[in-house]
Amino acid sequence: MKKNAVVVGAGINGLVASNYLQKNNFDVTLIEKNNYIGGACIKDTIEYNKEKIFYPKGATVLGMMQKFIFDQTGLKKNIELFYPKSPKLVYFPNDTEPTKIYQNVEDLKRELKEKWNEYGDVEAFRNDENKVINYLQKIYEKGESPCLEKAKDFLGKRITDLWIIGSAYNLLNNYFTSEKTKLYMGMTVTESGPASIFEDGTAFTIPLMDSGSIFHGYWGFVKGGIWEITKQLDLINNELGVKTLLSTNINKIDTFNKKIYHDNGEVDYDILIFGTDPLTPSKLLDDKNGLKKLESKDLIGSSGKVTAFFKNPVRWKNASDKDCESSFRFIFSNTNLDEFEKSSQETKKNNVDYSEGYIQIYPEGAAQRKMGNNEKLDKLILFTKNFSFDKNSNDLSHARDKIISLLSKHIDNIEDLCETKFLTPKDLNEQFYFPKGNIDHMTLTHNQNFNKRTFSNNPQENFYQYLHYQDIYYCGAGSFPCGSVAGTPGYICSKQIIRKYA
Ligand SMILES: Cc1cc2nc3c(=O)[nH]c(=O)nc-3n(C[C@H](O)[C@H](O)[C@H](O)COP(=O)(O)OP(=O)(O)OC[C@H]3O[C@@H](n4cnc5c(N)ncnc54)[C@H](O)[C@@H]3O)c2cc1C
Repeated sequence: MKKNAVVVGAGINGLVASNYLQKNNFDVTLIEKNNYIGGACIKDTIEYNKEKIFYPKGATVLGMMQKFIFDQTGLKKNIELFYPKSPKLVYFPNDTEPTKIYQNVEDLKRELKEKWNEYGDVEAFRNDENKVINYLQKIYEKGESPCLEKAKDFLGKRITDLWIIGSAYNLLNNYFTSEKTKLYMGMTVTESGPASIFEDGTAFTIPLMDSGSIFHGYWGFVKGGIWEITKQLDLINNELGVKTLLSTNINKIDTFNKKIYHDNGEVDYDILIFGTDPLTPSKLLDDKNGLKKLESKDLIGSSGKVTAFFKNPVRWKNASDKDCESSFRFIFSNTNLDEFEKSSQETKKNNVDYSEGYIQIYPEGAAQRKMGNNEKLDKLILFTKNFSFDKNSNDLSHARDKIISLLSKHIDNIEDLCETKFLTPKDLNEQFYFPKGNIDHMTLTHNQNFNKRTFSNNPQENFYQYLHYQDIYYCGAGSFPCGSVAGTPGYICSKQIIRKYA
């Protein structure tokens, strides 16, 4: 007989878990408190000349998803993708032209030597990183939990120590001589929150962020917008028979009788899976000790996002190559690791509201044009560090103005900017329920990364178990490997449940 699985939270992880469970002998009920699905992978609109313009409210770019999840869920039938093959472009202060981050390692070595005086071993860095990525992709697909001993068996002690156990600072200094190369290669350590590059375990975030296989570790775009991923997955799941309850608040969970009481009735479960933030299950289970334990973790986020709308396609300065229109770009305000560390830690301590670090620019509008989706306005997404947690975007207009001013140095038509939308970590808390505004729910620091990224009291046996609760699991963005529109935690967790109950 089929078992009843109740999944709470219709973000990418809840949707991926529902998909696999429903196909593997579970009857799935998906409970979502919003009146829409998608979580942080949804669209929003602005009105321009009385027309609606859609844009990605939370997540923008796809990259960490595994190709096998894209294929096996059925998403590949309905979704068109694109990723830029042109080099990424990096601007440091006072650069008149950008440094090109070529995909080809020989071209990259030449460029980094010429522009940044890099005399280290770029090739060894890429080769070793690829070994770690290869290992990660294998454990993802097998649905294995992260384990240091197994990593050492596969990768050897040197690579495991350097890339998984060690600090980002040591890793970067091991391969590179130029501070600019170290900054560029290491920036993802603070992708979601103010992790210190000196802390053990932070090296791991670097290969982690490149461990998607949908674009071979690169990042790209979804035709229409990234929200098509959650929208289409919901349609696929409904066809499979997943019952989705929207606008549904859970009032009580009876773990003895395995019953959930919600606004519109009750539902029995054999297994219960949370694809929410990690604190919500404790609140719903009325587990004060559990909540206290989780609240003491390092949860803070420091990333924000400005979406900039332009009346005409953005014209980049020094854009000799038309192909680079859809390249990812990076504007750094820091020039060495010490400055990088100082600006990320300053906001952590709430010393300042905003400390310039770096801006990742996703050319959403140009990418849509490449896919034949010509929209009324051009869009740039400016994913930016480092904000403190205590202010909404309304209180930080000076930070938004600074971000636009940094951008304006590199484009010729800033006068075409007609609208901006801005989110700070506090806005992420209010709009997406991220406990402290962190897109990974917990900072990727040493006791919260790789094999420590679990909420289970029994991680050896049951990595995705929630605290001590038998048959209750957590697979949201706070669990291994991390957040992102990938659904990897949802997949590994459901795979382990399917194995357990087979
Ligand atoms: C501004 C921003 C930019 C980002 N950029 C990118 C990007 O470009 N690329 C990328 O890959 N990732 C990006 N991310 C991260 C990515 O969006 C998230 O990691 C991912 O969407 C998380 O998915 P999830 O399913 O774990 O959780 P969520 O998407 O947060 O979904 C959780 C769901 O649970 C529901 N829920 C919560 N509490 C309850 C309850 N009590 N009862 C019922 N339902 C409940 C919520 O309403 C929500 O629908 C970004 C995130 C943000 C906010």
